[in-house]
Amino acid sequence: MIYFDHNATTPLDERVLEAMLPYLQSFYGNPSSLYRLGRIARSAIETAREQVAALVDVHPSQVVFTSGGTEANNLALNNIPNDANVAVSAIEHPSIIEPLMNRRDRFQQINLIGVDEMGRVKTSAIDSLALKNNDFVSIMLANNETGVIQDIAALSARLKPLGVTVHSDAVQALGKIPVSFAELGIDLMSLSSHKIYGPKGCGALLAAKGFDLKPLLLGGGQENNCRSGTENVAAIVGFGKAAELAKTEMAERRQKALLLRDQLQQALLELPGVVIFSREAERLPNTVQMSIAGMDGEMLLMQLDRKNIAVSSGSACAAAGGQPSPVLTAMGVDESTAKGAIRISLGKDSSEQDVIEFISVLNGLF
Ligand code: PLP
Repeated sequence: MIYFDHNATTPLDERVLEAMLPYLQSFYGNPSSLYRLGRIARSAIETAREQVAALVDVHPSQVVFTSGGTEANNLALNNIPNDANVAVSAIEHPSIIEPLMNRRDRFQQINLIGVDEMGRVKTSAIDSLALKNNDFVSIMLANNETGVIQDIAALSARLKPLGVTVHSDAVQALGKIPVSFAELGIDLMSLSSHKIYGPKGCGALLAAKGFDLKPLLLGGGQENNCRSGTENVAAIVGFGKAAELAKTEMAERRQKALLLRDQLQQALLELPGVVIFSREAERLPNTVQMSIAGMDGEMLLMQLDRKNIAVSSGSACAAAGGQPSPVLTAMGVDESTAKGAIRISLGKDSSEQDVIEFISVLNGLF
């Protein structure tokens, strides 16, 4: 099987599974319990917190573990004051767009910031927003479909002096490119474990020092009162181990992905009618979103599936909708080209042989 859908999820790294197993089998204590079994679980969580913090350049006390990227995004949005002006890019993940739209009566305005034809957030659009204190802006670090990386450091340098709270969804960037919360200069950042070879159902929200985070879930006061609920110890341990591995293997993974991606793109462009989206923008090293003239993306996905090749026709959550990708629509891609889109996302174990086989199968479909 050729798995080319690492932006949807990644397989669990065996070393991560090994780190998790004792916390599923022997060390089942509640981390809030004071006896030894509880203290072992507590200490494992704190080690994981240090490992995640080290990957993104923050102090461990700035890491709040959540049930994943979706919850981290919802938790971030829970910190928007009533009547605020909110601005988010038009290409955000549904876990940003949906909770905002669902509570739109709470805000004065929700502005959708446009992107150019390469999928880059238009800085002119940011400048034209009527921003004032207490406003909230959320722009993702890297897009899940196109892989386009936004210049969040530059955006926050413009917005922070205006007193704007800045959040960035870094779920797709994490583990693929170096991510430094400190260098980005933002207030809040969302992460997810299962995109970096960790377990599903685990993530984190990072908050700037001194940020008074308002929790979404209330109860026992875990996670320093920021996220109640007995911690998913094994998953948190797995996320920590995956973060540690991502840090030590980042350069190697990135280099390998870039070489394979270039090879893949070159071969794709030799096929008739292939368009690669966002080609001229800075992108994640592992992601290629493309369309073949006259072909339907979902049909193509199914044909590849029959040959044991897994790709995506857009973001995993939207894949069943049958609507053209809102990301490509925001980039001004016409409906028929957008409906032909498939996303290939390589992983650390993808090989040259996988790319050669994929191209050969694709060739056979013409
Ligand atoms: N944000 C982005 C950009 C994503 O790609 C995803 C997952 O696809 C999420 C958030 C949601 O993360 P999770 O699956 O951990 O809830």
